[in-house]
Amino acid sequence: MHTPVCIKCCTTMRVHKAGAVVHELRTNVFKGTKGEKAKALLNSVTDYKIWHCDIYKCPVCGVEIIGGWGNKPISEHWEKDFQFHKSNVELEFC
Ligand SMILES: [Zn+2]
Repeated sequence: MHTPVCIKCCTTMRVHKAGAVVHELRTNVFKGTKGEKAKALLNSVTDYKIWHCDIYKCPVCGVEIIGGWGNKPISEHWEKDFQFHKSNVELEFC
């Protein structure tokens, strides 16, 4: 991965945290939603995937981005160890 650049500041971003554990949430959007259970989930967010990645930060404005993703997630929502890994999550995003 090339080193990211902050467009606003024209500055190379730096690794703020290497090997961070992040939780990718899934936004639930169902077409033709039917049934009470489906309606309850509509536009909600649920567990999806947990990843190792690097967090980069602009040294000027402080904006942060996620980069340096692993090739595959640490765990996915359907795996037995998901809740264990979820306890180590440092940030969540959709
Ligand atoms: Zn910046």
